[in-house]
Amino acid sequence: MSGGIDPRPNAYDGAVSLRHLVKRFGERAVVDEVSLDVRAGEFFSLLGPSGCGKTTTLRMIAGFEQPDSGSVVIDDVDVTDFAPEKRLCNTVFQQYALFPHLDVRQNVAFGLRFSPFERDEDKAVGKALESVRLTGFEKRRVQQLSGGEQQRVALARAIVLEPSVLLLDEPLGALDAQLRHALQVELSTLQRELDTTFIYVTHDQEEAFTMSDRIGMMRDGKLLQVGSPEELYDEPNSVEVATFVGTANVLPARMVGAAAVAALGAQFSVVPGQIVAAAHSAACTVMVRPERVHVVVGPANDAPESVGRLTAPGEVLRVRFSGSSLLVSVRCGDEVVTADVPNDDSVPDLRAGQSVRLAIRDEHLRVFVG
Ligand code: ATP
Repeated sequence: MSGGIDPRPNAYDGAVSLRHLVKRFGERAVVDEVSLDVRAGEFFSLLGPSGCGKTTTLRMIAGFEQPDSGSVVIDDVDVTDFAPEKRLCNTVFQQYALFPHLDVRQNVAFGLRFSPFERDEDKAVGKALESVRLTGFEKRRVQQLSGGEQQRVALARAIVLEPSVLLLDEPLGALDAQLRHALQVELSTLQRELDTTFIYVTHDQEEAFTMSDRIGMMRDGKLLQVGSPEELYDEPNSVEVATFVGTANVLPARMVGAAAVAALGAQFSVVPGQIVAAAHSAACTVMVRPERVHVVVGPANDAPESVGRLTAPGEVLRVRFSGSSLLVSVRCGDEVVTADVPNDDSVPDLRAGQSVRLAIRDEHLRVFVG
């Protein structure tokens, strides 16, 4: 496109590409060579621990922060040097900063004043409020609204401009758990209705998993892995990703040839797709999710083969009740392994001190070499 941006609402599809993005504060690169393609119409989350550079990345997409190097491209237009209002992105922050002296309608209409595009204000505000299920709240003062309602006004204020890309920086962070859950569902429904690209920043794995089509996992300024929630959970490309998303048993192990791995006194067959190799070495690490670990009580040869390979004998250290499941910690040699077993009649009574074996199926191991 030549001659600057096209000011029409939804003029862009909303595909966002980051190319080798770097941002330094002093000596430290807080965003370090981040390259990423967010697809048009996708709900994409940047996930990672506090301080890993998620917000800084988002601010560079919005244009509030200038990268030291690299570029931001929206639908093939390099917008790196564009001012924020020229990017047709809008941002919703955790601190939603509504105007207390204005009513809901005036708050939502406020952004329209800065839009280069003429709209029917009543229609646009009405549609935005309907999207966030606040029709009828037009005349309410901001102070008369609950936290969840205020956040929905902030959302309406952002979507009234019909951005091609909506950037959301921990927008639910200030709300209590119940409200967060309700708004998570609303946000993903809204995203599908609007068909707008959402880029969502959160340190909350469950939140990212519930809402996102894909997730970019960040740590120390680097993008470690991009994938669907299932890919990150089942096929993490590093121990760091495995342990950040969900609970993981991470255990020392040893490769036996190219297609077998020894761990917990058992030998497992593995295929190349399960192995993440950074080097040639016999020493490796295996990861298995607690719900993939079965606890077997009684003689080893009574266990059906379908439960998996049996480990060396172990001892139950403790059993923690968590409602629908039991978290069973088992010492097996030098390692402590957690099994997440269903709290139903299928599992025998388990007690601390009991002698058990663990059973794990070959395909449920993820192997990290090097
Ligand atoms: P959180 O989830 O806590 O918001 P984050 O992953 O979003 O964290 P950023 O806000 O991007 O992290 O910050 C990354 C690092 O950069 C942090 O160590 C932060 O202290 C630092 N940082 C951010 N903004 C600035 C700034 N303007 N000047 C100096 N350092 C900064």
